Amino acid sequence: MHATKDPAKSITVALIGNPNTGKSTLFNSLAGVRQHVGNYPGATVEKKIGQFTIAGQPFDLVDLPGTYSLAPRSPDEMVTVDALLGRLAEEPAPDVVVCVLDASRLQQNLYLFSQVLELGRPTVLVLNKMDLAEAQGTSVDVAGLSSRLGVPVVAMQAHRKLGLETLRQTIQQAVEQPARAGESPFPEVFRREVADLQAALKPAAAESLPRYLIERLLLDSGGWLEQAGLPGVDNGAMQQVRQARARLAEAGYPVPAVEAMARYDWAARTLDGLVKTSETPSRSGSDRLDGILMHRFWGSLIFALLMTLVFQAIFIGAEPLMEGIEDGIGWLGQRLDYVLPEGVLRSLLQDGVLAGVGAVLVFLPQILILFVFIAVLEDCGYMARAAYLMDRLMSRIGLSGKSFIPLLSSFACAIPGIMAARVIEDRRDRLTTMLIAPLMTCGARLPVYTLLIAAFIPAHRVLGGWIGLQGLTLLAMYVLGLLVAVLAAFVLKRTLLRGETPPFLMELPSYQWPSPATVVRRVSENGWSFLRGAGTLIFTVSVLVWAAAYFPRDPAVEAEVRSGYAPQIEALQQRAVELAEGGEDGDSAARVELEQERAELKATISRHVAGAYMEHSYLARAGRVIEPAVEPLGWDWRIGCAVIASFPAREVVVSTLGVIYHLGEGQDERSESLRDTLRGATWPGTDRRVFNIPVALSLMVFYALCAQCAATLAIMRHETGTWRWPLLTFTYMTVLAYAGAWLTYHIGMQF
Ligand code: GDP
Repeated sequence: MHATKDPAKSITVALIGNPNTGKSTLFNSLAGVRQHVGNYPGATVEKKIGQFTIAGQPFDLVDLPGTYSLAPRSPDEMVTVDALLGRLAEEPAPDVVVCVLDASRLQQNLYLFSQVLELGRPTVLVLNKMDLAEAQGTSVDVAGLSSRLGVPVVAMQAHRKLGLETLRQTIQQAVEQPARAGESPFPEVFRREVADLQAALKPAAAESLPRYLIERLLLDSGGWLEQAGLPGVDNGAMQQVRQARARLAEAGYPVPAVEAMARYDWAARTLDGLVKTSETPSRSGSDRLDGILMHRFWGSLIFALLMTLVFQAIFIGAEPLMEGIEDGIGWLGQRLDYVLPEGVLRSLLQDGVLAGVGAVLVFLPQILILFVFIAVLEDCGYMARAAYLMDRLMSRIGLSGKSFIPLLSSFACAIPGIMAARVIEDRRDRLTTMLIAPLMTCGARLPVYTLLIAAFIPAHRVLGGWIGLQGLTLLAMYVLGLLVAVLAAFVLKRTLLRGETPPFLMELPSYQWPSPATVVRRVSENGWSFLRGAGTLIFTVSVLVWAAAYFPRDPAVEAEVRSGYAPQIEALQQRAVELAEGGEDGDSAARVELEQERAELKATISRHVAGAYMEHSYLARAGRVIEPAVEPLGWDWRIGCAVIASFPAREVVVSTLGVIYHLGEGQDERSESLRDTLRGATWPGTDRRVFNIPVALSLMVFYALCAQCAATLAIMRHETGTWRWPLLTFTYMTVLAYAGAWLTYHIGMQF
């Protein structure tokens, strides 16, 4: 097919390549930063599109996710293959495919290229990072490679924009190339089986399957493609596929091993005589560095120090920024006091909108700081080494070393942790990591623990005075989350996310100085993706919970509270009259005292009014509805209500308890009056205390295990592209939290 140059219609160019080949750098150099990010319909796969023109002809540049192989094992991976083959609805196949290879790792990178070549689109090979290859003492015969492959090859240094102009011209010319399926790298027997299958499947299928998909079907011994609903692939067809596999195994070409054999063989043949490596490879510096950084002891020590730094930075370094955001939001809220009269609008803006914006923005410092570290560590080549170091530890729970940083970050906050799981290529590992990340004890749980521990756990010293009971309780909460996470990972990897873990592909990139431009780009992309993907949802939940706590707002509630205070108000008025009658030079001290009492009474009434409104709100009604469910945990409806209100953010439970117990707004975990109030609270109409140690512990265990955090669920939905995983997380964690809280309460009551 010839793609004719029609100035009205833009030409589509797809970019594909292994991760870290410089694909994004190239994308930005070609299309600038004006890009449009969306998702492929129904998939997590992000679709980044940019535009550029060559001699007046518009081009659409589509960035496909970085990948090592085009072997679909999940719907997301299928999208990339379908996009390249033009099998997506309303998405014609790209007119030109630009495949970016890292020249310093040419042989490995040719694996993906051999698959791309088979798709049969007009293809351009970009040999990027030529400077790195040269530094390693490798030289490539570019013209020779081009004529051997039969496709144009452009040597580049994308970070310096070297070779960009040649690439633009080459793309323009490539559009004119006829599309032809590249020669198959497979052995003759395999090719014959593919041809036979293709012929056999043809009549049944409405559209005939491209050769590449038939090959995949044959190679996919994991059985994923069988369920992917390919046209014509029914039981009969699979029977034939299995017979073909058996014949191939007999002929000495077992599936799926034959693919790696064939493609690496092809890569070696392709490069034979075209690549020269100088006698003294200059990798020795990098090798010496690896000798230290990947050393069992020194390497682990350096890694531990680095991780301490990362953790401190996100946990403590983000604190002033987060406080700054909260103060800024608080200041804006106070301004509103002067601008707007008290009422629904002011409350909506202060407690709904501003609080919602704050709830979103407050995550940004941690996300940005974590991603600065990740981007730097990744860009300088250290990350792959770190993953290798942690692999042994993480493999005990069925994960790989790449899960370590996402999980560690989740101790500060699960949001950046879940986003950091993007670096995990294996889908099952990535999902498992995201699903257990919220069990790590995050910073938002601390206020809850602090309040309850200070109020209810005696400050005894135990173990011969070595450690305080309060500290021990806090530690127990951390350990509990960790243990349950290990257990959950273990179970998930054996049930829902079962499957062979691909052998750890150790790709050790060359060390290099991190590029500031790349770091800035990755950090801003992640920050933006959070705001865009999860921000709106977090905001919406905040506003909804505000509405539930504010409405129905019956004025009779306030009138009733005020009428209850009528005698006090009257008494104060009486005294005021008496003072006034006492004459001009009445006792000024008494006057001041009266003013003070009046102010205090006013404050008490308004706290009481706020509490009464809350008690009559929809939120409280929900709390009463769930009371029978939370009573077995030792909680009353007010605790249940505070737990619901803390859905936008866990720490809100503290301030909600403050309002509900008539302490007014703005109570925090260090508030003495809140602690006293909680200690004294009784079940309505009785003098039975609501809180005791078992209740406090059961509430803490609940918070240790529950997924009571809208932001976590929102980011999980954004990262996985469906509601399935956040719903599953919410369900399994709530069940665990409930069971844990119930057990804690009942065991506690035995003592
Ligand atoms: P992607 O994962 O393929 O999108 O890779 P990036 O575009 O993020 O690039 C990975 C790293 O390689 C970044 O630090 C780039 O600055 C760097 N890089 C890109 N092109 C070149 C190049 O030609 N030579 C060298 N030495 N580094 C490059």
